[in-house]
Amino acid sequence: MRLGSFYTKTYKSMPYDVQFRSTQLLYRSGLVKLSEEGNMCYSPMGALYAKKLQDSIVERMRDFMEFKVAGGERECMAMYQQELKSYKQLPLKLFHAAASGNDDYKFKEGLFNPRQLTSLVFTAFAEEQSATQIRRELAEALRGLGSELGIKLQPLDSKDMMSLVWESKLPLKQFLKCDSCGFGGDAAYIKSGAQKYEGSEELLATEYIHTPSVGTIAQLEEFFGASAKSFIKTLIFEVGEKIVAVLLRGDRNISIGLLARHIGMEPEEIKMASEDAVMKATGAGIGFAGPIGLKADLLLCDEEVLNMKNSVCGANRTDYHIKNVTCGRDFKPDAIGVFKEARPGDACPADAGTLEALNGSEIASIEIKELKGTYLDENSREKRLWSVSVRICVERLMSAIAEENMDESGAIVWPAVFSPFEYYVIAGNVKKPEELQLAEDAYRLILESGRSALLDDRSERIGSKFIDCELLGVRGVIVAGKLASQGLVEVRDRKSGTSCEAALEELLEKLY
Ligand SMILES: [Zn+2]
Repeated sequence: MRLGSFYTKTYKSMPYDVQFRSTQLLYRSGLVKLSEEGNMCYSPMGALYAKKLQDSIVERMRDFMEFKVAGGERECMAMYQQELKSYKQLPLKLFHAAASGNDDYKFKEGLFNPRQLTSLVFTAFAEEQSATQIRRELAEALRGLGSELGIKLQPLDSKDMMSLVWESKLPLKQFLKCDSCGFGGDAAYIKSGAQKYEGSEELLATEYIHTPSVGTIAQLEEFFGASAKSFIKTLIFEVGEKIVAVLLRGDRNISIGLLARHIGMEPEEIKMASEDAVMKATGAGIGFAGPIGLKADLLLCDEEVLNMKNSVCGANRTDYHIKNVTCGRDFKPDAIGVFKEARPGDACPADAGTLEALNGSEIASIEIKELKGTYLDENSREKRLWSVSVRICVERLMSAIAEENMDESGAIVWPAVFSPFEYYVIAGNVKKPEELQLAEDAYRLILESGRSALLDDRSERIGSKFIDCELLGVRGVIVAGKLASQGLVEVRDRKSGTSCEAALEELLEKLY
């Protein structure tokens, strides 16, 4: 491609305050346009980079797709799934590209969290065993892809979901990772182990305590002279028409993600109950809710509360708490589960390890699940269908590539096989016929050898051509400049930092 006849524009600086160097560089290279509203789009040049990256990924994931699905993701997937009736049709492997809104959008995180994210989704419908096997192969393929791209992807596995996370030095999203096994995941969604109860085993009789204006956990700690761990916190939510109460240990926060999954709703359908609704459920003022005598449609209890004995909770009576409360004896929840938000220092649910914080960006994820749909196996028995799907986020991947593939001066060196251009040929001064001619010849030679190249035949100064070449991140540089009169070009490899001179006939041998 000739730069002289293509629209491209690079910038000296980025006008917005974005933390990540990758976003600044991708903006300055003119590959992406990012508006102050957090919307991004690709420039014509950026579209070439994005397309090459996506095509290269699809090429490497060939084994995981039989065909490409067009249309809305959810409806389409459901449609193909419904057509699966027999084991003979399995596995069915589909590919789908989708753009979706990003709940984690933060402007200063730039392309790691723009308003819209593009995902490449590979989904397989399969029998249970084969789904597990495909999941293993997908994880392997993604790790391989990561190393080809020069980025380390850490697999954080919570059984039904595996997150492949690029670790960041700057704050991004928090993940948790076991220090001894591979367990881990998004802190908002993983279940950590329950802490054991440390205290007397003997159950004491319950007692109402007058606690005027003592409503918050901090006030309770002071009033009772006890740690937050000895209180039962009662949280009340409105989910549609229903009142759902969740019991947690006093020092814990609720994980709306886990609650939503437990009751089969979307997180945004769960709202903190209004003051009126709380007063109706408890018959008391705010701050005195408790499980005994509570009017809730569903009373859920975090498993950690089962380990607590002789705890303090609200009495559902204004200005009163009850002490020496124990689950099972004094109240019976409708269901027990994990509803607390996992945090660093919690126990790993898979082994004896401890969860540690890991800060980064989820570049890809693999989800495996049992579906409601069924198929007939080879003995005509009805079996549940499984799906396994991997989602690769293009913008985050581009950012991580840019973060991890920089030369010594901090300019991007795009991994050559994922770049639309392996070589950047510079015609030093297009007004000098020998320089332009030599550049044209070198360019043609490279293309004829089956490699890709960009010819910078613009009437710019040579200095700005070097800058644009660096901004575009092209690894190999060929310069037809001062030595053109002797028939020599300069050949540089930006990755290794080496350079040499070459006549046209030896050019191909001297390329990296
Ligand atoms: Zn572990």
